[in-house]
Amino acid sequence: MKTAFINDIPYTFESGETMLDLIRRQVDSGLVPTLCDAPNLDPFGACRVCSVEVALEKDGPVKTVASCHTPVSEGQYIYTSTASVQRLRKNIIELVLTDHPLDCLTCEVNGNCELQTVAAQVGIRDVRYPEGDHHLDRSKDLSHPYMTSDLSKCINCYRCVRACDEVQGEFVLSMAGRGFDAHIIKGLDQSFMESDCVSCGACSQACPTSAISDVFQSKSIQATDTTRTVCTYCGVGCNLDISTSGNEIMSITAPYDAEVNQGHTCLKGRFAFKFYNHPERLDAPMIKRNGSFEKVSWDEVYDFITEKFKYYKETFGPDSMAGISSSRCTNEENYLMQKFYRAVIQTNNIDGCARVCHSPTALGMQRTFGTGAATNSIEDLKHTDCIMVIGANPTDAHPVTGAKLKQFAMKSGHVSIVIDPRRTELARYATHHLALRPGTNVAVLNMMMYYIISEGLVDASFVSNRTEGYEDFEKELKGIDLDKLEAVSGVPREQVRAAAIAYASAPNAMSFHGLGVTEHSQGTFTVMQIADLAMLTGNIGRKGVGVNPLRGQNNVQGSADMGVQPHQGAGYLDVTNPEVNARYNAFYRSEVPSHIGYKIPEMFQAALEGKLKSIWIIGEDVVQTDPNTQKVIRALEATELVIVQELFMTETAKYADVILPGASFLEKSGTFTNGERRVQAVRQVVDPLAGTKPDGQIIVDIMNRMGYAQPDYTPDGMLEEISQIVPFFAGIRWDRLGNNGLQWPVAEDGTDTQILHQQEFKRGLGYFEFHDWEETQEITAHGEDYPYILTTNRELEHYNCGAMTRRTDNEKLLQSDYLMIHPEDAAANRIEDGDFVCLESPRGKVDVKARITDEVKPGVLSTTFHFPEIMINNITGDVHDSEAMCPEYKVVAVKIRKSKGKFKQLMQDK
Ligand code: SF4
Repeated sequence: MKTAFINDIPYTFESGETMLDLIRRQVDSGLVPTLCDAPNLDPFGACRVCSVEVALEKDGPVKTVASCHTPVSEGQYIYTSTASVQRLRKNIIELVLTDHPLDCLTCEVNGNCELQTVAAQVGIRDVRYPEGDHHLDRSKDLSHPYMTSDLSKCINCYRCVRACDEVQGEFVLSMAGRGFDAHIIKGLDQSFMESDCVSCGACSQACPTSAISDVFQSKSIQATDTTRTVCTYCGVGCNLDISTSGNEIMSITAPYDAEVNQGHTCLKGRFAFKFYNHPERLDAPMIKRNGSFEKVSWDEVYDFITEKFKYYKETFGPDSMAGISSSRCTNEENYLMQKFYRAVIQTNNIDGCARVCHSPTALGMQRTFGTGAATNSIEDLKHTDCIMVIGANPTDAHPVTGAKLKQFAMKSGHVSIVIDPRRTELARYATHHLALRPGTNVAVLNMMMYYIISEGLVDASFVSNRTEGYEDFEKELKGIDLDKLEAVSGVPREQVRAAAIAYASAPNAMSFHGLGVTEHSQGTFTVMQIADLAMLTGNIGRKGVGVNPLRGQNNVQGSADMGVQPHQGAGYLDVTNPEVNARYNAFYRSEVPSHIGYKIPEMFQAALEGKLKSIWIIGEDVVQTDPNTQKVIRALEATELVIVQELFMTETAKYADVILPGASFLEKSGTFTNGERRVQAVRQVVDPLAGTKPDGQIIVDIMNRMGYAQPDYTPDGMLEEISQIVPFFAGIRWDRLGNNGLQWPVAEDGTDTQILHQQEFKRGLGYFEFHDWEETQEITAHGEDYPYILTTNRELEHYNCGAMTRRTDNEKLLQSDYLMIHPEDAAANRIEDGDFVCLESPRGKVDVKARITDEVKPGVLSTTFHFPEIMINNITGDVHDSEAMCPEYKVVAVKIRKSKGKFKQLMQDK
């Protein structure tokens, strides 16, 4: 350890540590004032307020340096508070104040302004300089639903510019002009609304004054409490600090010490919270009578439900009933829901939204490694040399991780491979973009592995020591028909070869995949190939490598972990295994069935065949988000009792017989598990809206009324129970979660696990299994008559069915779904930008507004499904992944023409 002196006292320092870091760490975090420094930004050295004096020997000559960006050296003497540096700091602030309004009492950040604090710290009582030219007349920018600016308050510290560059990687903010004219601009000197701002709010949080802020005034001090919790919108699992006053949420900021998001969020996490007390929130249980919903008491609705449940169970048997749990709910609530169906109803007919997104990931990774979860953490991006992103558009769907991936891809010397039909934002920065035809992932990945073998890049030692099945795998792979695969995928073989060499040659390579991998007829096989690629090149079991699925909904990992699957109970234990069955029976004090239950598509089919009498759906708008909408509707109509537990009257809720008003993540406690297996504490911020109940308590109430004694819902009590049955939760306790949670598996003593499969795989040896590419039935059956391929995607502004985000001002930023269409296809069909396009598939027709763009290739169309007015799933089909039954949203055979408006009108009339 090396030593330096601060105010003549010796301290040890770490290599590369700056003087400011050392002073803060060893002496006092507030001793040296700063203005341009921020916790999540690189040192900059612009304001010089952090200046200190430094000598190379005691009492030697001193030099004044900015401590924030000057590294400490052995034996240095650092003086933090000499008269000279105090004079300097005071003078700097005086100069800043000559061009800053002194309207503190009416300023939004009065009492929480860093300039105000520093001015007080350096002892400003007056400003010695006469009034001169200034920029106090700059007008405010109130153009945006969330972001605001008042650049008369700007002190040119560059923190907003750096946040936009270093945190979000958007480069919207920059400094224009020189000297006295230097000023912040957005885009090409536009307003926030006109610019390419993605509303992440990083600039607002970074700004030390109110020059850049947000409509919720998140830096003001109106709030009385702050609660740390976890975002509900995606599997990144960003931590949020939520400020409240009374029972009202005032604003949200991002904690800098959050290991997941380090002071960053996207616009959904930071700004899209106003749905929680929206006037359209469901606020009473309802029973549909004579075609209309009637509000009833909780007692009445519980009586109604339990009477029917008992009747169906006794009359038609437990398998006449099914439940769909919610990835928006906590682990504890998901655990309870599956427990209710297994232990109380005594059926395995329980499933969740993972069925329609990442079920192939869980299955494919389980088959290859033994565990269906991310092997590493996002933090490992700091330790990798190459990223491969396949079938994912993370800057829209997983924005905080997406920003990190983008930062990685933009840095010189980094290798990035994007495999995606669309030229996504990440693809624009990628070293290699393989723009394949939707439905040909297996073809391209087989070509990649062929080249890794033929170029002699296989990690032979890893393959021989840690895997099995390789000989057969290699033999099959060597026999693939490159000509055919090149032709069907549309990707030149040399491009594939270059990407394969880049991935296999990198010292450390990480892969990330999304729904563009899983939502295909060969989804599970594609996941297995991604895992094969990692094993083939030895990219498993250490930092900076691995297979890392980007999980969609906030708790989709957790819901599967908790047993929301018809074939595996809590902890991924096989329900057909007699030992497991005996364990569940003993633990639940019940007779849990040992045959596999219905997956969601099988539930709908059973309903259509008259076999399903009741379905209870929590927090999942299956009518809007599941494929083949009309079939889903027919299935719900054919089911005698449809219970929907929701926040809003969703498209699915309209078909319910009973509605139970649940609570949002802001109104309850529990845990969410993010895509890195990180179990984090969700803490109640406000009371549940009057008339609603936390979803876990509703399940408990019904369990008790069905005669099964279950204690009231509390996160600590539930975790205690879960830790006894889920092996990888053995050491998870509520009071151990702290601010950053624990990554499972967690040992009894609380030790968690950042990297899986370090010494051996969960299944012992990793398993190679070859699968050849097969054309999807959607194309073989319909491709001739419906020659275009529609693929669905997500937009940054909205979340899934949009029930929450459409009830926030996010709707002002994106007001409808739109169809991406290549200029050649648009011209061939006489479609102009903004025209409605009639999309017709074998299932039906919808009208969507065209956006002409070369982000898609000719023959490929792409759209979202956030808006019920469009209901894009009216045209998606019944083809599923052959193994996990995940629907094939990514390949829909369609034909197109300019719309006459008829079907758009039909949908709006519905
Ligand atoms: Fe929430 Fe995901 Fe955005 Fe983070 S990236 S704030 S978890 S939606």
